[in-house]
Amino acid sequence: MRVVLLGPPGAGKGTQAQIIAGELGVPAISTGDIFRANVSGKTELGQQAKVYMDAGDLVPDEITVAMVKDRLAEPDAKSGFLLDGFPRTISQAEQLRASLADLGDRLDCVLELVVDEDELVRRLSGRRMLVDGQMVQRDDDKPETVRHRLKVYREQTAPLSGFYETEGMLARIDAIGSVEEVTARALAALDGCGRPSAG
Ligand code: ADP
Repeated sequence: MRVVLLGPPGAGKGTQAQIIAGELGVPAISTGDIFRANVSGKTELGQQAKVYMDAGDLVPDEITVAMVKDRLAEPDAKSGFLLDGFPRTISQAEQLRASLADLGDRLDCVLELVVDEDELVRRLSGRRMLVDGQMVQRDDDKPETVRHRLKVYREQTAPLSGFYETEGMLARIDAIGSVEEVTARALAALDGCGRPSAG
């Protein structure tokens, strides 16, 4: 299956992406993770992306789309993938649709994780990740940057919900509850998109 996970920062996309991709037997591809790996690896791409990421802005579409196309061309993504954090603009969504169409493919399902903004701010300001054995706050999880990322989401990414609804691919999922509850809702939604049954 070819699936996109949509939702604001702090909705739990990364956590759900890993679990759902495991269930589907496809790679979870996170543009945020690929950018962060490039930033720590001090690559050219990382240096370009860091400026935008630290400000809580989107990395320009040309950079992001080229990176995703390369990743989707790898053999493990041939028969399916779960995209986490891409597309994030209408232009990215159109370019994704076009490059899949070139291969005779299309997305099967877009899962939107829905969480209200108060809850997002609470989650993001308390969020820590493990780096070299230590729990640290992501640079872009500082309160100022969090507010800006939510604004960027509202303005640039939230319109994708309507875009995919028009395409008849959208499933909205209440993402408040335990990780297991949200996973169960997501898998049920994927069944509705034609997920092949196990076995
Ligand atoms: P979150 O969903 O918590 O905001 P991500 O890890 O998905 O975090 O993304 C972190 C940052 O990486 C974003 O704020 C943005 O700067 C950059 N980024 C990730 N995906 C994209 C994308 N598809 N387009 C542009 N920038 C992106």
